[in-house]
Amino acid sequence: TVVQTCAIPISEGKSKKNLQRWQHRKPKHLYPPHPLRPQPRAKESSMTGFFYVYPPSLTNLIYKTMCGIFGYISKEKIDAASILLDGLKRLEYRGYDSAGIAVFSTRGILLKKKSGRISNLEQVVADMPDSLLGIGHTRWATHGSPTDDNAHPHFDCKKRIYIVHNGIIENYQTLKSYLKKKDHKFTSETDTEVIVHLIEELSKKYDFKE
Ligand code: GLU
Repeated sequence: TVVQTCAIPISEGKSKKNLQRWQHRKPKHLYPPHPLRPQPRAKESSMTGFFYVYPPSLTNLIYKTMCGIFGYISKEKIDAASILLDGLKRLEYRGYDSAGIAVFSTRGILLKKKSGRISNLEQVVADMPDSLLGIGHTRWATHGSPTDDNAHPHFDCKKRIYIVHNGIIENYQTLKSYLKKKDHKFTSETDTEVIVHLIEELSKKYDFKE
């Protein structure tokens, strides 16, 4: 099963509360100058930090704050890895620090992820089978440093559920402690990973679709 989520931030004007919310989302120390991140294109207010662009617009907020998520589903088996890599390259302008793909194939779900440029990922993606379904992600780290393990997609203990995610799970510490007590094994430091383990845990009680 492949799960994909994507939260799109909505501009709500330049109220002080709103600005604080965006600044809170990625605290200053979490976005030091980074060679892979694009330079701001629009005028910025010195008072409001990296994420606030004047005049505010949905496009600017997305440009400033989104990682890249690319997914495909096809009726015929095709070269999954190339399509995903191509899709991720088109999203490079948003800024990122690592990238990864998961492909659902007759050999099971195959996962490749790598910190740094998409070209690093390209080097480890070889002989991927044709497939009907796949997801890809360029990450902009908020929780956990930009390492191979912290790159998306993330997976549950049984490697049945894979996820790519944009945004922050604010109560992830609470969820992580709860899931660790239930013997879930985490392989990354991200907030994102709690989602797959939570789905796995809940699927013990509920029908998966439910
Ligand atoms: N919070 C997630 C992480 O640190 C997602 C970051 C993003 O939006 O790329 O992995």
